[in-house]
Amino acid sequence: MHDCLFCKIARGNVPSEILYQDDEIIAIKDIAPKAPFHALIIPRAHVESAAQLTPDEGAVLGGIFALAARLVREAGYSDGYRVVTNVGAHGGQSVAHLHFHVLAGRQLAWPPG
Ligand code: 5GP
Ligand code: ZN
Repeated sequence: MHDCLFCKIARGNVPSEILYQDDEIIAIKDIAPKAPFHALIIPRAHVESAAQLTPDEGAVLGGIFALAARLVREAGYSDGYRVVTNVGAHGGQSVAHLHFHVLAGRQLAWPPG
C-alpha cells in the first residue's frame, strides 16, 4: 500500500515518535493529541478498518489491548483510559489503515461527539 500513511510510518518511511514496536504492531504518539496521553497502536499489516477483522486476528488484537494497558501504566496514568477505533466516514476515520487510539490523562466525555 504505497500511498498509505500508516504503512509508511510502520516501515519507517515517514518519521514518528515510536513508543513500542515488534514484528506485528507499532505504537506511536498521535501527531495531534486529544488528551495528555494519546497513542496510536497500529498493526503493521494493511487492514482498512475494524470492519475487516476476523477471528483469525484475535491474538494480535489481544496483544494490542495488553499493550494499551502497559503504555498507559508506564506513562503513569492510573485513573483509567479509553481505547477507540473509528470506522468509516461516520465513525470519524481519517486514515484508512486500522489503528487504535489510546487516550488518557483527563476525564473523557461520554457519549463522544
Ligand atoms: P482517525 O481519524 O483515522 O481515527 O485517526 C487518525 C489519527 O492519526 C488522528 O488522530 C491524527 O491526528 C493522526 N495522524 C495523522 N497523520 C499523522 C502523522 O503523520 N503522524 C502521526 N503520529 N499521527 C498522525
Ligand atoms: Zn496501510
